[in-house]
Amino acid sequence: MTTSIKLAEKYRRLTQIHKELKAEIENRKRADLTKDELITIAGHELKTPLTIIKGYLHLLENSSSEMLLENTRKYLARTLVQVGKLELLVTDLLDTSKIESGHLNMVCELVDFDELVETIVETIRQIHPLYTIALTLGSDAIVQGDRIRLEQVIINYLTNAIKYSPDSFKIGVSTGLSEGILLFKVTDSGIGIPLEKQARIFHKFYRVEDPEHRFSGLGMGLFISAEIIQHHKGKVWVMSEPDKGSTFFFTLPVSSLKVSKPERASF
Ligand code: ADP
Repeated sequence: MTTSIKLAEKYRRLTQIHKELKAEIENRKRADLTKDELITIAGHELKTPLTIIKGYLHLLENSSSEMLLENTRKYLARTLVQVGKLELLVTDLLDTSKIESGHLNMVCELVDFDELVETIVETIRQIHPLYTIALTLGSDAIVQGDRIRLEQVIINYLTNAIKYSPDSFKIGVSTGLSEGILLFKVTDSGIGIPLEKQARIFHKFYRVEDPEHRFSGLGMGLFISAEIIQHHKGKVWVMSEPDKGSTFFFTLPVSSLKVSKPERASF
């Protein structure tokens, strides 16, 4: 290797290390955000869907009367997607603040877990028709907990699987029993997460660096999910490999089984 090639290679590696360090510093700063910094980041995240919504409304306003019906159908659907994103962001912000002040209250009811998962997957299939979601229901478990909060965690796992799989459209969702405990998992074949980052992704505001800003988000979803599952006396974790994909898991104690049958050995 000539000296200039060696130098170029060194320069490339140093630039890469510099980029990674910068992103790491950013992430550490995020974990300890001041209120002002949080407002700036949240404001930026909220502004993006708002700007898009405004754009679609302008397009509708300027539509000719012949195009109005067709454009209304087209732009309303896209506007709704952005409204959904806004709603999620605002809910996450409010939930994070409730967790901080110890006021994330949960109700306790009996929840048919497989039925809950099936309903959510049906809805997500309709919202994201490009993605194939293979569903395996095998827990038959009734759990005691807050249906809306558990729904929030399942949706968070699923929407993340979709968001972080921009080039691969297959997702797997399954429920099962392992030693009397309910196990839920969502598998994707997306961008994956480096091993050294996996322990931190359930921390508040933590996001794996994304220098090209391909993925929007505030890094609150998994933090809230972990809080909800811990509140239900369950556990959360992830197994992942960069460029191969990720599997997100959680467990929950089982209150009773719908049909008594031998435990499945699929997990
Ligand atoms: P957000 O998606 O808003 O950043 P989350 O708390 O849901 O917040 O996720 C935290 C981080 O974990 C994300 O920023 C992303 O880096 C990583 N992550 C979560 N789910 C996945 C996934 N399925 N594949 C790859 N990375 C993921």
